[in-house]
Amino acid sequence: MERMVEIERFDEEASYEVTLRPSSWDEYIGQEKIKKNLKVFIEASKKREEALDHILFFGPPGLGKTTIANIISSEMNANIKTTAAPMIEKAGDLAALLTNIEEGDILFIDEIHRMSPAIEEILYPAMEDFRLDIIIGSGPAAQTVKIDLPRFTLIGATTRAGMLSNPLRERFGMHFRMQFYTPVELAKIVTQASHKLEKIAKDDAAKEMAKRSRGTPRIALRLLKRVRDFAEVLDEKEISLERAKYALDQLGVNSLGFDEQDIQLLELLVAAKNKPMGLSTIGAALSEDEGTIEDVLEPYLIANGYIERTARGRIATQKSYEHFKLSGVDKGQLNE
Ligand code: ADP
Repeated sequence: MERMVEIERFDEEASYEVTLRPSSWDEYIGQEKIKKNLKVFIEASKKREEALDHILFFGPPGLGKTTIANIISSEMNANIKTTAAPMIEKAGDLAALLTNIEEGDILFIDEIHRMSPAIEEILYPAMEDFRLDIIIGSGPAAQTVKIDLPRFTLIGATTRAGMLSNPLRERFGMHFRMQFYTPVELAKIVTQASHKLEKIAKDDAAKEMAKRSRGTPRIALRLLKRVRDFAEVLDEKEISLERAKYALDQLGVNSLGFDEQDIQLLELLVAAKNKPMGLSTIGAALSEDEGTIEDVLEPYLIANGYIERTARGRIATQKSYEHFKLSGVDKGQLNE
């Protein structure tokens, strides 16, 4: 089954998200602290006519890391090259990327925690001294070739700061943790996008979609697109609250934005009473990859106080028990 609040990216960027992607600070809603800091650093480096220091963004998928990297490049009047760590398999792949950039350009590497150690080794001098040391040949005949690189800015994005090696993390001059968005911010994002889509969401409808988006712009935009389909089929000019609610219910997104997998996870933990449950047990019970549980499922539930991560595993909080009670599930039954 398709997960309605699932985080996917490549399919959508090819279709509608390109046009919905903010291209300036004004359109980039929220993350105020990060924006404020970046504006200062960008202005300072422009004044000094220097490339911006390397930047690392971390946080769950769909929170705007790629988008902000693109805004930085346009603010710096720089070109941006975008890739993902798993695509850089050989030293030559990285060398090809780095020797093709110009002074001040930006190299955006997504999923940077998945970089292979051998490639990381080549990246260190490139980041620090703007120098590429490439070994040609092997054994006693091996030779190191040094290539000077233009001063560039590496922007790394990762969903897992913890999986980044220390030497790599330390080579980024700036680290920013992306925050989940508030419902008010998400409603603004939905409204802004609905104007671009020329199917305007009324304020209360935008708020409803925002509330059900797990704090994530990518999900909010996906919900908007689906809700718009319902309004379109019914020949409605605007998106009303009634239509939004109806469409979201049809799509199986509950009032807190939880989808079936969230509910399954919470039910699992609630049923375990206060016994902590390990990631591998959760993975097996949900037939889901452990990485996805850690990167996609858990962060929102933790940030909103539904589950807690302890040294011995995950436990449901009081808020989770209350949630189930409120939604008609007998707590006694769950505890049996
Ligand atoms: P990430 O790289 O963190 O996975 P993206 O930058 O691809 O996330 O963002 C997902 C989508 O959400 C983008 O296509 C963009 O349109 C939208 N988006 C993200 N952040 C914002 C924001 N702050 N304001 C408005 N739209 C946003």
